[in-house]
Amino acid sequence: MVRGVIGYLEASAGRHPDKTAFADKERSLTFLETWRIARSIGSSICESGYRRRPVAVFMEKKAESVAAFLGVVCGGCFYCPLDPKMPKERLDTILSVLQPAALITDRSKEEQVEALAYDGPVFFYEEISIHQDLGDQLDAVLDQVTEQDPLYVLFTSGSTGIPKGVLVGQRVVIDYLRWLEEAFAYSSEDVFGNQAPLYFDVSVHDIYGALYFGARMEIIPPSYFSFPVRLVEYMNERKVTTFLWVPSAMGMIANLDAFQFALPKYLRHVMFAGEVLPVKHLDYWVRYLPDAVYANLYGPTETFVCTAYVMDKEEDRDKPLPIGKPILNSRAVILDEEDCPVEDGSVGELCMKGSCLALGYYRDPERTAASFVIDPSNPDYPERIYRTGDLVRIDARGDLIYISRKDDQIKHMGYRIELGEIETAAAGVEGIRDCACIYDGEKKRICLCYDGRQLEKKELEQRLAKKLPVYMMPGRFCYYPALPHNANGKIDRKRLKEMQDEKN
Ligand code: AMP
Repeated sequence: MVRGVIGYLEASAGRHPDKTAFADKERSLTFLETWRIARSIGSSICESGYRRRPVAVFMEKKAESVAAFLGVVCGGCFYCPLDPKMPKERLDTILSVLQPAALITDRSKEEQVEALAYDGPVFFYEEISIHQDLGDQLDAVLDQVTEQDPLYVLFTSGSTGIPKGVLVGQRVVIDYLRWLEEAFAYSSEDVFGNQAPLYFDVSVHDIYGALYFGARMEIIPPSYFSFPVRLVEYMNERKVTTFLWVPSAMGMIANLDAFQFALPKYLRHVMFAGEVLPVKHLDYWVRYLPDAVYANLYGPTETFVCTAYVMDKEEDRDKPLPIGKPILNSRAVILDEEDCPVEDGSVGELCMKGSCLALGYYRDPERTAASFVIDPSNPDYPERIYRTGDLVRIDARGDLIYISRKDDQIKHMGYRIELGEIETAAAGVEGIRDCACIYDGEKKRICLCYDGRQLEKKELEQRLAKKLPVYMMPGRFCYYPALPHNANGKIDRKRLKEMQDEKN
């Protein structure tokens, strides 16, 4: 019996060999096919002698990409999904941090991979997915797997301009799945409607949910999220019973009133995570789908999903949902500015402990030491906590209420962005002297304020597009002859925000 998450794949391949495990619009893979492909890819990796090393997967979003991830894990390594649409400069930075043992891609991406600042081994999916199964040799590798081993690295925005590689272990996902089983009655009849990009941890829920429950993951074509009626029709065609989406995807359906035209008739579990779901959008969904279960899941990439709240439709009308209570084997502590636990009901920084914690930032001991610390409120023995940077309080029912961020991290179109990363990219543009980003939460717009030389919007966009993914591109650029500074010489963001408001 194989251990770790690959054990779930083996079990489902045994129980439901011909059942579809992963599907996109064009293709699908059964559990048995996925198991065979994962073993073939695992055999290629195993043959190369890599153990517990990162393997980058540079492929489009499709069912085969998921099989490639599982193949990496099957070979005793951990995967890092890379988005082929990301600017080359940012990909190069990520690769220089990651230093992968190998990179998996397919023939359609060959030229793009050749242009990357990476000269390690390249494996082509077309070949490794049919590699001979090494049998006992591969089983010996799988026998060595422990739940503490790394499973994946996901890169998130970094305030210094260098993205952070969050290294997550198998244990995080295993405990999450055990919790999911206890909390929701999922079965092999379920169909997970995947919305999140594969380089986002929200899709971890879909991939491993499918493996664990013998269910199906349907990758919904990303373009359908701009055509909500088509989206709902597709969910019906593919019989989607559950999803975990970012609130902006649910908001889009509500804003365009798509349910007037079509209802997702198989949907039973509606889950959302990543940011606050506006009350009006939740009300819209509950009005049209009153029998579904609604759950607000919370967690930074560094803790995956670590708290959850299931909506009580009577009690929770007309107010934002709590983020709930810690899930299985996780615990929360709320610290004040002096690092002491807050009084009940007071606001403080949410710190998480338990099996939800990532192993740290890959090849970045300094950032790891700053965010994954020993709980200062426990003098008796060392307990590792992750400082989320989120401000929360506990309500009378013992549920956590999300208040805001402590820092300049924002959520924009569902993406986590450190404004510092945009500022670092902009500071490298010739002509810009000082710059700062302001986020207008109401208009959902990033504004880059700068001084130095006034530049054309188009020129700025072109220069920044080389370094930043599309979702980080400021929607507005504001030139000032001189940005305001405070007494310490830092840019006075409060004053800048006022200046912005005056301009509006
Ligand atoms: P990410 O690492 O992309 O998952 O982003 C993590 C951040 O998103 C958290 O630190 C929170 O600020 C925010 N977040 C995640 N889930 C929720 C939620 N359910 N409600 C409010 N904010 C959330």
